Amino acid sequence: MSVCRNAHQEELFNTYATLGRSVAKAATQNDADATLDHDSWQTISDEGIWRIAVPTELGGLGGSWKDVIAALEGLSTTAEDLGFLVTTLGHLGSIKVLLDEGTPRQKARWLPRLLEGVIGVTAMTEETGGSDLSRMQLAARQNGNGFIMSGKKVHITNAPVAQLGMIAGRIPALGKKKDITLFFVDLEGPSVRIGEIEDNLGIRTSPTASIEFDDVPLTLENIIGQPGDGLRVLYDIIAFERALYGAMAAGLIENHIMRTYTRVTERHAFGKPLSVNQYVQGRLTDMKMGAIVCRTLTYAAFEELDKGIPTASILCSATKYFAGENLLMSAENMVQLFGHVGYGNNEISRMLRDALGMRIAGGTSDIQRINIFNQMTRLQATMPVEYDDIPDPLVMQEDMKIPA
Ligand SMILES: Cc1cc2nc3c(=O)[nH]c(=O)nc-3n(C[C@H](O)[C@H](O)[C@H](O)COP(=O)(O)OP(=O)(O)OC[C@H]3O[C@@H](n4cnc5c(N)ncnc54)[C@H](O)[C@@H]3O)c2cc1C
Repeated sequence: MSVCRNAHQEELFNTYATLGRSVAKAATQNDADATLDHDSWQTISDEGIWRIAVPTELGGLGGSWKDVIAALEGLSTTAEDLGFLVTTLGHLGSIKVLLDEGTPRQKARWLPRLLEGVIGVTAMTEETGGSDLSRMQLAARQNGNGFIMSGKKVHITNAPVAQLGMIAGRIPALGKKKDITLFFVDLEGPSVRIGEIEDNLGIRTSPTASIEFDDVPLTLENIIGQPGDGLRVLYDIIAFERALYGAMAAGLIENHIMRTYTRVTERHAFGKPLSVNQYVQGRLTDMKMGAIVCRTLTYAAFEELDKGIPTASILCSATKYFAGENLLMSAENMVQLFGHVGYGNNEISRMLRDALGMRIAGGTSDIQRINIFNQMTRLQATMPVEYDDIPDPLVMQEDMKIPA
């Protein structure tokens, strides 16, 4: 496994790091306004970020997902805007689903719009809960050759600005436990209602809202994968996005380090720079190690995903877990080392507010641990040695939930 960037990836890293600086300039105002940076979004779309890993025959640049990681890491190192980055990550997820699961007609219908930068959402969470997807109620009922979709999703990133949605729901006619299905839906039209923008603590630059579907007519073409195959498709896409969280966190932490390092070398206390104190150095080294863990795990997870190795899911969850935990640790250390300046209502404390959200969005840290344990149990069942004192893996799997 190589975690080094080749010359092309270095170029991508630098290009998107340069574009990220414009995102950072507008981030504090966009946080106050709870709005996405549409200009920068269009700029990175025009630069071709969405096309990087898309085959040339589908209008892409024919690169690899490791090229995408390089671009995302570059952007994350300078953008200082978690909402913008989370939007990027979700957009890449929608593209990956279409590439992996879409029929030629579905690709022709939705891929060009996503490649141009039309924003899509991924909607799983409902009022009944986000961690436990088995409680979802949104349903598409059979109607002639098609379906009628009704139900409500909540806390959906970019719902107020999106035009497309990847929506998890049920087809009740398939029967319980076989009915979860993933739909690609155009969000314009009178039967789709978007709620008020939610007033969140952080990650405000990707505004969240509810989406209500009121008898929206769909056809088979709206289903991604097979009817009833939604959990598998979701599982794959969630794993992919979890792995990307690591690259994003690594870039953001490197940004925290750059800011904090400058501050502690310039600021003096007791006649010397803050940076000569080992307690201060310890905080910075913890931040650096946090970035290294996130970055290395991302590459390891992508390697296992690419090769279809059974432990890939554990690595993806571990990557999301450490991304959330290390980003928060890093942001907290940054605020602490900036002293009273870090505690002001400014970009330093904004990054701490944002980091708190990353432990929840994309599946909470505790849900990642649950997933890791479930996967361990599943793998244990395939081991040649028998142990008497572990729970029956089949019973554990029966309970396994795939979290948002
Ligand atoms: C900024 C932001 C953006 C979001 N964007 C989207 C989006 O675009 N699309 C979408 O579908 N959802 C989105 N969400 C929702 C998110 O996926 C959910 O908030 C998350 O999955 C947790 O679900 P919940 O909020 O219902 O918490 P709950 O499921 O009610 O959980 C509450 C707490 O209990 C813990 N918990 C739950 N079950 C267990 C258990 N068995 N053992 C131990 N602890 C447990 C959880 O870890 C959590 O800490 C977003 C959330 C945030 C904060």
